[in-house]
Amino acid sequence: MADIIQLLPDHVANQIAAGEVVQRPASVVKELIENAIDAGANSIKLIIKDAGKTLIQVIDDGKGMSATDARLSFERHATSKIRTADDLFQLNTKGFRGEALASIAAIAHVELKTKQEHDDVGNTIIIEGSNVVSQDVVVTPNGTSISVKNLFFNIPARRNFLKSNTVELRHVTDEFHRVALAHPNISFALYNNGSETFNLPVSNFRQRIVNIFGNKTNEKLVPVEEDTEVLKISGFVGKPEFAKKTRGEQYFFVNNRFIKSAYLNHAIASAFEGLLKNGTYASYFLNLMVNPQTIDINIHPTKTEIKFDDEHTLYALLRSAVKHSLGQFNIAPVLDFERDSNLDVPYNYKKETISTPKVEVDSSFNPFQEEKSSAVRTTSYKKEPASSWESLYVGLESKGTKSQQDFSEVHFESEESTASIFEDDKQVEQEYTTYQLHKKYIVSTIKSGMLLIDQHRAHQRILYEDYLQHLTVKEAISQQLLFPLQLHYSNQDVLVIEQLKEDLEHTGFVFSNVSNETVEITGVPVGVPESEVSIILEQLISDVENEVPDSNFSATDLLAKSMAKSLAIKTGQVLQKDEQEHLVNKLFACKEPNVSPTNRATFITMTVDELDRKFI
Ligand code: ADP
Ligand code: MG
Repeated sequence: MADIIQLLPDHVANQIAAGEVVQRPASVVKELIENAIDAGANSIKLIIKDAGKTLIQVIDDGKGMSATDARLSFERHATSKIRTADDLFQLNTKGFRGEALASIAAIAHVELKTKQEHDDVGNTIIIEGSNVVSQDVVVTPNGTSISVKNLFFNIPARRNFLKSNTVELRHVTDEFHRVALAHPNISFALYNNGSETFNLPVSNFRQRIVNIFGNKTNEKLVPVEEDTEVLKISGFVGKPEFAKKTRGEQYFFVNNRFIKSAYLNHAIASAFEGLLKNGTYASYFLNLMVNPQTIDINIHPTKTEIKFDDEHTLYALLRSAVKHSLGQFNIAPVLDFERDSNLDVPYNYKKETISTPKVEVDSSFNPFQEEKSSAVRTTSYKKEPASSWESLYVGLESKGTKSQQDFSEVHFESEESTASIFEDDKQVEQEYTTYQLHKKYIVSTIKSGMLLIDQHRAHQRILYEDYLQHLTVKEAISQQLLFPLQLHYSNQDVLVIEQLKEDLEHTGFVFSNVSNETVEITGVPVGVPESEVSIILEQLISDVENEVPDSNFSATDLLAKSMAKSLAIKTGQVLQKDEQEHLVNKLFACKEPNVSPTNRATFITMTVDELDRKFI
């Protein structure tokens, strides 16, 4: 019988490897910048067009490559960084697999220019889909420049799979932030579609954070320092009162490499216990230095996960270091921006009398407390007319109507008596048919059995439809603020607001200034409390950057979703009987009561039959 096994040609093997190494433009950015750092660069420039889909170029002033190395660098398993498997355990460089350039060259048009300091001229190579198109001498500065054009040009399926430019740009920027934060001693610049987005001079860690996330960040940072034999910790955590609604600013660097670790993240969260409002996340920027022999970074192809030999000790050390800093931050003077951050070790204050840390947690915090009669907030622009209760059951059983849609099973037991409960004080004695389960679900009796409602999702649906209705009205009513509200964001976030400004104005927001890390607001949509504005915008920015595809993008819809998400009652919130009842009624008054704005089920039903069957 004929032999059937064949060795794959190199370009095919490279394309397959590329699938692992290169998922999106941001992966290329990471690999190229890491190579530049390994080459000893002092200055690294990243130039991208169309979020990296058209062009990703990295220019460094590192040691460059010889003509032979330039050609070899595109071969698979070609690396200058390890020679034996043992070297893996001593790793001080970012790369080691020798796969990145070969993979990238297999799926893009690549142009390399490189020159070593002692050479008079440099070399250039052009490779397209693993084929070397040309190799030549060239006049070029010391260092290396690699341009990667038309990513995935030969794999249309992968190219089509890329997300919108906004989303891909977010990934690129995230990657850029990670390496830039890990290396404040290197200057970085990012140019997007011809304009400079970041210019980060050589600085200390604190300044680097501030240069990336905006000047206002400086006052939010609390230094953390700990020096033990197994672990050296340095960096900052964000003050609890500035904790964010999204997990955006959480960075661990182990030996100058960004890593993700749910376990270590938990250590920080537990150090912050009791200091954060529900649903907010602490920011942190922490460098951990450990002996390279005690970690294994080889377990993940994109190298953001890591295995430590002694995780438990690291956890305990990290937790106590952060706790210690938090306990002291209110006696530490405002730190001087220019000062060497190493001098800001909180232990300097060891001998001073320690005042009890001030924990600003408002335990009675309840965003819905203004409305005593009902915590279930609606954005009612006008009072609900007393007779409108019937519409609450749209889609439900109603006398004589047979159009029972999706929930033909749902029949309220005593609709007559629940009907006007909010309009008629005399009926306060009413026996309610709802019950709150684990501060999360509302159980309600229906004719056919029972209804189990997810309170958070249900309220999102209610608010979403309410907002949508009012936001789509052409001339939204705006509520003027007594004093302009100044909010501070990174320039990148301000850019997002700028893009959305016009749509936001249609919804009732009035901006007096959007520039330079600042957003100034003089009016907000009616029904949106001033105190929630910053949360809504934060949520909106993160939604735009992370989730929304370009097609069928509607700012109004997104805004309604974001606001609903921000303002809906949360799991864990106790609801009074009348609030539970109101929630149920409002939910079934919605156009699409069975799903949340993000298409998740808002309730499930269980019929008596089904229950009976469980008892067989
Ligand atoms: P790895 O980084 O894992 O070694 P790569 O495919 O990323 O593999 O790079 C292959 C080799 O090319 C590197 O080991 C290095 O010798 C060389 N190289 C890549 N980029 C640069 C650069 N910017 N400056 C100098 N040498 C580089
Ligand atoms: Mg590399």
